[in-house]
Amino acid sequence: MEKKNIDWSNLGFGYVQTDKRYVSTYKDGAWDDGVLTEDATITMSECACVLQYAQTIFEGIKAYTTADGRIVTFRPDLNAERFANSAARMEMPVFPKDRFVDSIKQVVKANEAYVPPYGTGATLYIRPYMFGINPVIGVKPATEFQYRVFTTPVGPYFKGGAKPITIRVSDFDRAAPHGTGHIKAGLNYAMSLHAIVDAHNKGFDENMYLDPQTRTKVEETGGANFLFVTKDNKVVTPKSPSILPSVTRRSLMYVAQKYLGLEVEEREVLFDEVKDFAECGLCGTAAVISPVGKIYDHGKEICFPSGMEKMGPTITKLRETLTGIQMGTIEAPEGWIVEV
Ligand SMILES: *Cc1c(COP(=O)(O)O)cnc(C)c1O
Repeated sequence: MEKKNIDWSNLGFGYVQTDKRYVSTYKDGAWDDGVLTEDATITMSECACVLQYAQTIFEGIKAYTTADGRIVTFRPDLNAERFANSAARMEMPVFPKDRFVDSIKQVVKANEAYVPPYGTGATLYIRPYMFGINPVIGVKPATEFQYRVFTTPVGPYFKGGAKPITIRVSDFDRAAPHGTGHIKAGLNYAMSLHAIVDAHNKGFDENMYLDPQTRTKVEETGGANFLFVTKDNKVVTPKSPSILPSVTRRSLMYVAQKYLGLEVEEREVLFDEVKDFAECGLCGTAAVISPVGKIYDHGKEICFPSGMEKMGPTITKLRETLTGIQMGTIEAPEGWIVEV
């Protein structure tokens, strides 16, 4: 397989059109067989439900080349499960989980020339999504849907080492109590756009959202879950019904316990106890884990002992172990690595 002539190590995180994508249509109560197509455009009614009422959900997964040259994805069954939960909550038909995993494999295979070689740090980002496409003007769910998967090559998340970031406690909320924070819906991101632009304008990298009801407990950022390390080396992650269950965070908690022998806790985390933690990181598919050096809270600063120069020791170990599992240099738990 001849690879595309791309400067893999200098790719950013942007959309690069690849050759093929997958489309399946839901109509009259059933999904069609689905096809790979070269057409990267979508034509729809001006009154499509997704355009008027934001009925849309998505997933994010990576394909990459392992040390021994296989093209693989990481735990796509968990994305299939989460996508099904998102669909159900948004009154959308579930795309069968086995077909979800199969469609990902098809699209990656069809775009093999865009899967970055091992060692570049780059990956092929996979974006499955679904939206209501028929005209809807009186508020109700659509009856026709498209499920699609496209891919785009993305560069290494950290160019020249992972520098700790500075985040701020947000005065905006990302999810309402009893709302949609736990599903991967476009509407949650629409909610966060103003907050992130405002954070960037004020010199912060990300927003830390607290629970919207009491503003006393840590939830997550706009697109990543929190992991904390206590001074006695326990790994703690917040528990809340409005946090999106990150595949990366769940995998890191497993790695902490089973590979590194650390104590782990998933529990409510009060903002008041954050100042006592030794390390803080943000978990998601794109970065695996990015270190947080400082949290700004309305004029006060929390500075983690790990500092602003490099990742703390436990987060470094967690990151190295999980990326080793993903790249095939450390033995993976059964079913985590799925060959394309
Ligand atoms: C996608 C997402 C994450 C990260 O989940 P992964 O499965 O690890 O990529 C975290 N928070 C939110 C709000 C997300 O949408």
